[in-house]
Amino acid sequence: MQMSKLYAPTLKEDPREAELASHRLLLRAGMIRRGAVGLYSYLPLAWRSINKIEDIIRDEMEAIDAQEMQVPILTDGDLWHQSGRWNAYGPELMRLNDRYEHEYALGPTHEETFTDLVRNELRSYRQLPVTLYQMQDKFRDERRPRFGLMRGREFIMKDAYSFSATQESLQECYDKQKQAYANVCERVGLRALPVVADSGQIGGDTSVEFMALADAGEAALVYCDDCGFAADTEAATAGVTVADGEPGDMEKISTPGIGTIDDVSSFLHIPASATRKALALVDGDGKPVVCFVPGDHELNDVKAEHAFGEYHLMSDEELKEYGLVKGFIGPVGLPDGIRVFFDESLRPSEWWTIGANEADFHFVHAHPGRDFTIADNAWVDVVTARAGDRCPKCGAPLKEARGIEVSQVFQLGTKYSEAMGATFMDEDGVEKPLIMGCYGIGISRTLQAIVEQHHDEHGIIWPVSVAPYEVEVIPLDVHDELVWPVADKVANELLELGVDVMVDDRKERPGVKFNDADLMGMPFQVVCGKKAVKNGNVELKVRATGERTEVAIEDVARLLA
Ligand code: ATP
Ligand code: MG
Ligand code: MG
Ligand code: MG
Repeated sequence: MQMSKLYAPTLKEDPREAELASHRLLLRAGMIRRGAVGLYSYLPLAWRSINKIEDIIRDEMEAIDAQEMQVPILTDGDLWHQSGRWNAYGPELMRLNDRYEHEYALGPTHEETFTDLVRNELRSYRQLPVTLYQMQDKFRDERRPRFGLMRGREFIMKDAYSFSATQESLQECYDKQKQAYANVCERVGLRALPVVADSGQIGGDTSVEFMALADAGEAALVYCDDCGFAADTEAATAGVTVADGEPGDMEKISTPGIGTIDDVSSFLHIPASATRKALALVDGDGKPVVCFVPGDHELNDVKAEHAFGEYHLMSDEELKEYGLVKGFIGPVGLPDGIRVFFDESLRPSEWWTIGANEADFHFVHAHPGRDFTIADNAWVDVVTARAGDRCPKCGAPLKEARGIEVSQVFQLGTKYSEAMGATFMDEDGVEKPLIMGCYGIGISRTLQAIVEQHHDEHGIIWPVSVAPYEVEVIPLDVHDELVWPVADKVANELLELGVDVMVDDRKERPGVKFNDADLMGMPFQVVCGKKAVKNGNVELKVRATGERTEVAIEDVARLLA
């Protein structure tokens, strides 16, 4: 690639819209541009890196028999009604109608679509397990899109879905995806920790998030250097069990009840150092469906998230609609669509349940005090981990870090297959719901996380595996009859050896070329200056270390291949 032809409009000044170094650098290096809030274009250099990340993912998926395919981005509203998520998902779901007033949503994730796809065709246990995946744009109307590609409203995700006949088979699919995700992080050059996001009820993890370590990360986590244990500090709320539930007046509302958490610490991964109040809701079987920890979330924060669901701060329109001052709405993704609104003092002010299916769509509305009371013992202590706490696995002191969630693996079980009637005939002749897992990697977020971890004050430092070009050849004077032929020759040799190479053939001053090369961050620079060339050499600069060495012209291509 000749730089004179490259579409990479660099910026001299730091763009004001960018708070994070990675966001700033991707804009400055001419790799991304913002179209509107949370909407980005990937310019040619960034697109090359995206392709490389995708190829690494493809490679890892191929190795575990996951099959790539593609479904429509536009998803039928009917499917969302069937799963119950049309009502439960909240305003993050981008909805639209066609000319016949039929409802659609731009896919934020595709559990419904894939479940629908297989439900009439995966009919026998003999056909299972199957894992399908795609890489595609996703849409989420994030309340606060920010940090460039980190939290966009349109972003690229690899999403995989596994369908199994047994829990053991799901576990196997899940473990393979988890390992593949760890491999992807390593291969793209990310220092990432697999963090327990959900402890599950039967021990073991049922969801893990891969957190790229970065001070600018939105997630807080604790980890142990000695044994590798790591947990989201908020995963503490995921492992709760509810002992003697006390549904009491809550029964008036519907199935969800209110319960106390008995032995919190035995289910939490993390020992106590900070405690705060939480409110647990249980379903009819006494199983916790959601646990709110209001103390941890400022009302003006973007959202609070837990393994059992996701919450967002209500928009002004929603607040008006429900006649409230302030509140959280949530959780997203619960079959019963339970919503709890908190008042300003963070006491639940109202409870609603919404039917799972359109057929029984209804609102049940209750006011505390009038329709029910909240038992005092519904408020329980929940613990979060802090640095210095003992690791629950090995007892060593835990450390604290911040991270960027780049990917997540999740055992879904039969949540979608049951709601949507996706069944198969098992060996014993019994019709059973498919047992599912879902596995997502944020590809565009990964790109920016890489830059967040790999940069200095001069610019980006791409890991070789995902660099737009592996080598940049820099002839200092393109008119010089000695220099240019050498640059051209080295570039062609590199190309022949299969190295991605870019040549700065612009008629710019050396200073401009050096600055741009450091900003764009190709891992190796081959500097062709008159003096060195006269001696039969070029200068090889390693972007990461700044180390420069003179290398014979004949040797440099072979050295880099
Ligand atoms: P977050 O907690 O940051 O909101 P999430 O848990 O909602 O992310 P998932 O539903 O697990 O996201 O989606 C899988 C992956 O997609 C995430 O791990 C992340 O890398 C990526 N992702 C999610 N939301 C966004 C977004 N708004 N912009 C860019 N990438 C995103
Ligand atoms: Mg989210
Ligand atoms: Mg998350
Ligand atoms: Mg996630």
